[in-house]
Amino acid sequence: MTRSANLGFPRIGLHRELKHALEAYWKGAIDAAALNAAGRQLRARHWQLQRAAGIDVIPSNDFSFYDHVLDMTATLGAAPPRFAGITDPTALYFAMARGTEAAPAMEMTKWFDTNYHYIVPELQAGQSFRLATSKVVDEFLEARSLGIETRPVLVGPVTWLSLGKSKVAALDPLSLLDRVLPVYAELLATLKATGAEWVQIDEPILALDLTAAQRAALRRSYDLLQAVAPRIMLASYFGALGDNLDLAAGLHVAGLHIDLVRAPEQLPAVLKALPADKLLSVGVIDGRNIWRADLDGQLALVSAAWDSVGPDRLEIAPSCSLLHSPVDLDAETDLDAELKSWLAFATQKLAEISALTLAMQKGRPAARPVFEASAAAALSHRQSPRIHKPAVALRAAADIRLARPSPFAVRREAQQQRFGLPAFPTTTIGSFPQTPEVRERRAAFRHGRIDATAYHRFLETETERAVRLQEQIGLDVLVHGEFERSDMVEYFGEQLDGFAFTGNGWVQSYGSRCVKPPVIYGDVSRPAPMTVRWSVYAAALSDRPMKGMLTGPVTILQWSFVRVDQPRAETCRQIALAIRDEVLDLEAAGIGIIQIDEPALREGLPLRRSDWTGYLRWAVDCFRLTASGVADDTQVHTHMCYAEFNDIMAAIAELDADVISIETSRSDMELLEAFRDFSYPNEIGPGIWDIHSPRVPGQGDMEALLLKAAEAIPPAQLWVNPDCGLKTRGWPEVEAALRNLVETARRLRGSGAR
Ligand code: GLN
Ligand code: ZN
Repeated sequence: MTRSANLGFPRIGLHRELKHALEAYWKGAIDAAALNAAGRQLRARHWQLQRAAGIDVIPSNDFSFYDHVLDMTATLGAAPPRFAGITDPTALYFAMARGTEAAPAMEMTKWFDTNYHYIVPELQAGQSFRLATSKVVDEFLEARSLGIETRPVLVGPVTWLSLGKSKVAALDPLSLLDRVLPVYAELLATLKATGAEWVQIDEPILALDLTAAQRAALRRSYDLLQAVAPRIMLASYFGALGDNLDLAAGLHVAGLHIDLVRAPEQLPAVLKALPADKLLSVGVIDGRNIWRADLDGQLALVSAAWDSVGPDRLEIAPSCSLLHSPVDLDAETDLDAELKSWLAFATQKLAEISALTLAMQKGRPAARPVFEASAAAALSHRQSPRIHKPAVALRAAADIRLARPSPFAVRREAQQQRFGLPAFPTTTIGSFPQTPEVRERRAAFRHGRIDATAYHRFLETETERAVRLQEQIGLDVLVHGEFERSDMVEYFGEQLDGFAFTGNGWVQSYGSRCVKPPVIYGDVSRPAPMTVRWSVYAAALSDRPMKGMLTGPVTILQWSFVRVDQPRAETCRQIALAIRDEVLDLEAAGIGIIQIDEPALREGLPLRRSDWTGYLRWAVDCFRLTASGVADDTQVHTHMCYAEFNDIMAAIAELDADVISIETSRSDMELLEAFRDFSYPNEIGPGIWDIHSPRVPGQGDMEALLLKAAEAIPPAQLWVNPDCGLKTRGWPEVEAALRNLVETARRLRGSGAR
């Protein structure tokens, strides 16, 4: 019979219990036993909740105290050698995640195209592996002791290795495959002996462009593992199998999970390719977003699968683990009923999966109430005037020139006339320290303990202090400090139409850290100026140019839950038009330099290379739309961080910002390699202070970086700045580092380098 299945449940807990337990443990406020008890409680609650929701196939080992990739690393006994002295497994685990005095933490990066961060496996040539923890089996038995038979989840060997990196020398991770597979085999055999009927093995790399070596590694792995393992459900997600379809369908596994939310169009091809002895798990409920599903539409998709594979070879599941969804919509007490009726969080998604399964087993009438609620929500969504605003659509359809009135060379002249900046101009990226006092005042204002006048007076004082300090230090282009902003996306979302904010919609970002992304539910517009007041206030305090500070449309889109009833490009264009209005208002208010931050431009890149061009086209166009309305002598800046821009350099140049500041200092100007082959046309400030580190760089460090930059970039194009905002730093280090930074620029001017 057709079964309902889940691929993973959020671990963090409805009230972020895991976060609180972890942070208490790290502070020494609770011991390991208490931490483990908190984990056990969450696991039990989540298993029971899934069973109560009618899920037949319930995962285990989807729980993690930090990250599931790190769990696999720990299970394989693959701790890097610098942690060798740590014998206690819990201490070792958190040392790898967070570092110790003696050994820095392992690297962390984004899990495919999500905002979840995993700990990157660190590999060495000739490394050995062993089954080092019993977590997978323990949690399977723990569920069984509660009367729940589960399907353990593992990160597959080829994905685990492919995500890995060597810190010392170039290493082909797959050269370690034959060392890793015996450990997987031992683990899987143990699970089988313990009575597990199925395991879920995740190989999300199946949604990427694969090398011949990766394909061969997948074949070799499953040839070997299927012989000893419980029945394997091989899970792919985050995209279509595409040219990996035949490979995936041919692997020696008992079932294949496919993502039909990201790639519904792949179903017919999968049905054709799937051998008759394999189960098909159809991922039809979106694990990545918060919208209620169109159940009738998804039922049609499931039925098409059913017609082909029959009832006994079919599982109905979310597209991917529900890790990327908030836990429970019922906890939202402040969202209005209409908006709520359009949403589904992890708990509601389980109910949707059950309803679809019931409809397949017994016919749609058996699940009528859930289907009717879905249809009603879809109808109200289609018709709601909160979503569809004819004026916004009309404006978005208008043909607006994407190019500035004049080419850069002409603009540069005009800007030089207006601002008369010295060679190697100095500036910062926008934010100044968000001290506990700033956060405390904001909270007091939000909770009504102080009124708007008092809060604004406080912000004015902070702003003035930042301006005076910048003048004293001698920076050339000042910023107001962003004290009024808690977060660079939230600040704008709260002032734009079409956005909503949840009270408890947390999703795990990394470790105990969670984010609460804004919800873009409807057409976006800007009812009133958002930043002008603060920029104008700050500008009036000083004779030096004051830079206005905005978040760009792609970044706002990328860090939100985005509506799915229209293409992302269209939503992005609406945001771009709203930001364009703000740019023009800043300009009209006399702000001559305006920075539009796009740190998330690169992370929006699609998983497949062949989709990059299409994405970059609309992303670049949206940025240009925000900036193209200003006069030649208004200077547009942009900022990007999180490295690895080399492969999209041409697109970055196409943004045609007059100045870009970019993160480079951590990678020791590695980025600049790209500038040797690609001559960047406009001005650029490669960050010379890694603000992610508490260390205050000396003049010598900064000068060395700048001179290195000057080898690849003509000095006349260079700006001098930190590599990101200073919000997380303290005032004393900011002051010291900025003094060194200004001094570095002065020395270079004096040396006649430009
Ligand atoms: N202007 C923002 C700041 O200075 C930029 C932050 C970012 O790049 N993430 O904080
Ligand atoms: Zn940054």
